[in-house]
Amino acid sequence: MEPSLAALHYGQAIFEGIKAYKNENGEAFIFRPEDNFKRFNISAERMQMPTIPEEIFMEGMRALIEIDKNWIPAKRDYSLYIRPFMFSTDNVIGVKPSETYKFMIILSPTGPYYSAPMKIYVEEKYTRAAPGGVGFAKNAGNYGASLKASADARKKGYDQVLWTDAFEHKWLQEVGTMNVFFIIGNTAVTPSLEEETILEGVTRDSAIVVLKEMGLIVEERKIDINELMEAYKSGKLLEAFGTGTAATISSIKELCYKDFVMKFDTEKWKVSPKLKKILTDIREGQAEDTHGWMFKI
Ligand SMILES: *Cc1c(COP(=O)(O)O)cnc(C)c1O
Repeated sequence: MEPSLAALHYGQAIFEGIKAYKNENGEAFIFRPEDNFKRFNISAERMQMPTIPEEIFMEGMRALIEIDKNWIPAKRDYSLYIRPFMFSTDNVIGVKPSETYKFMIILSPTGPYYSAPMKIYVEEKYTRAAPGGVGFAKNAGNYGASLKASADARKKGYDQVLWTDAFEHKWLQEVGTMNVFFIIGNTAVTPSLEEETILEGVTRDSAIVVLKEMGLIVEERKIDINELMEAYKSGKLLEAFGTGTAATISSIKELCYKDFVMKFDTEKWKVSPKLKKILTDIREGQAEDTHGWMFKI
């Protein structure tokens, strides 16, 4: 690596996070990889990087996992984490799109992530994403920019932040690096995507599909933190959780906004544990894949 490597200076770097699973018969599957492939190219386009042909991304990933499939643990809540990524490799000082790039895929066996329920601080100082920015792209800079807010939250005794909008700091966006859902009565609400400030999670989409099948109403819309506080006070806010490939579903046991603390007894929850079980069963081959989500190796 030369010191002038463009990615280090100008931040053209994107990635994806995908998981592969093994069923009881030892067959390997990847969960919804085509969605990650499409999102990778959306990120590439936003960062003025070349898009990757489907044949290289999908077939390259399939071939790699075929070779390494013995590294997929055949154990509940375990999987093989797949990390495709691309970065600019011109050795030039000067702000412009690089002419050369490297696309790679690395793998790691992984177990249950952040399984403990989280304490979350509603962020009002730092901003993750604004309209017109790069919040919908999985580019490296988004994560570098988020570390200070997480560190400050940890100093206050919280695990992560719930991001709010850049202007009023009251419209909810995401929780750390996960999409966020709230169960209010018989309705699941999650922030909508139209402002392009939110990462369009594959787990988010899967959760929306399964929640509807479970008989809940699902609303993708703007959510004001004050609406959430009112719902909490009237006893209608039943559950709060994050969704993402790493953790699947992460319960939020405490949510702090200014001086107001919302606490939840996660042991009593009904919806998100069931959602998590359904998603895990599909991924690990213990329930029928009625949506065509499992890509066979
Ligand atoms: C990756 C990511 C998610 C979750 O996306 P999945 O496809 O469900 O893994 C949510 N928010 C951010 C900021 C992310 O980077």
